[in-house]
Amino acid sequence: MTQKMKFIPINEWGYGDQRPFVISGPCGAETEEQLLKTAQEISSISAVNLLRAGVWKPRTRPGVFEGIGKEALKWLQNTREETGLPFCVEVAKPSHVEMALQVGTDVLWIGARTSVNPFLVQELADALKGVDVPVMIKNPVNPDLDLWIGAIERFSNTGIKKIAAIHRGFSSYENSSYRNKPNWEIPIELKRRIPGISLICDPSHICGSTAPLSYISQFSLDLNYDGLMIESHTNPSAALSASKQQITPYQLSKLLDNLILRDLEVKDVIVLSKLEDLRDQIDEIDDEIIKTLALRMDVARRIGDYKKQNNVTILQPERWEEILKTRTKNGVTQRLTKGFLSRLYSLIHEESIHQQTLTMNKQASELKNSE
Ligand code: PEP
Ligand code: MN
Repeated sequence: MTQKMKFIPINEWGYGDQRPFVISGPCGAETEEQLLKTAQEISSISAVNLLRAGVWKPRTRPGVFEGIGKEALKWLQNTREETGLPFCVEVAKPSHVEMALQVGTDVLWIGARTSVNPFLVQELADALKGVDVPVMIKNPVNPDLDLWIGAIERFSNTGIKKIAAIHRGFSSYENSSYRNKPNWEIPIELKRRIPGISLICDPSHICGSTAPLSYISQFSLDLNYDGLMIESHTNPSAALSASKQQITPYQLSKLLDNLILRDLEVKDVIVLSKLEDLRDQIDEIDDEIIKTLALRMDVARRIGDYKKQNNVTILQPERWEEILKTRTKNGVTQRLTKGFLSRLYSLIHEESIHQQTLTMNKQASELKNSE
């Protein structure tokens, strides 16, 4: 199913073809003046392709600004006429889709609180059957790649080819300096599984503040993302929602000016040969890693055997604790990060236990057969 999906890249949607594709505008449309002023300032930045503005705002708690609704769609229409900037809005219900289409919204997006819900996503996809409007799908709030892919499939199944994915980070209960943790491995895996899809980074919702926006934007471009969605407001501190993460259009233009766009492929032969040399080294090291891991698992199976003969349990918590502690200490002195070492050793340990269990069960079944 996933392999069959065909997408038109975002820079072929008719809203500009430069890289990165930039979407910007306020978190929410608050007043016609605020929207128009922001859009006017943004429209003078040539790098911006699309204006964004939330009309229906999914808020965590009730009783706060929840968007203007239908009336703001008219403001967006007028703003487009005044500035020439095409616009996108978030839709979360089929009635939103209907209203957004009535005013000729250029692009729709599905928010992170909606893409978690397959029923709702299906209803939205059904509401778009036979309509040729591009859709951008934010990752669901929880770090579940299949759920994100499922949402993309639901829209793709209706025949829509202009689909992009927006990475806005993932909720987590742990303390984090991010508002939504990026978990970069998830969008990277999304690109591996759906190579043709355009990937947009939303640093505003990842950061939740303005200071790291440039860094995260650059990081995503270095990972070969196709575009950026960055919230901007003429007066961020007075914004009715997400005031901490919005920047002024002037700050936006500075941020975009400072981005470094690296080549997608290496053209210079000298650079290429140096790169190939380094890649050869990586290939050899990976070979060694696999051989070493195989050796380690071999020993694990022997331990399994030995434990079985001596009637000892497989999991020895103190031993595991000691492995984790000593390997982390050793690795950290060699410029490996603590988090990486702990994830790596959890995987290795899990596999060791698995191999030992297989050995024990094999013996048990062999014993049973020989009885
Ligand atoms: C937004 O884009 O303003 C928004 C509500 O984002 P998210 O769905 O990523 O929370
Ligand atoms: Mn927002």
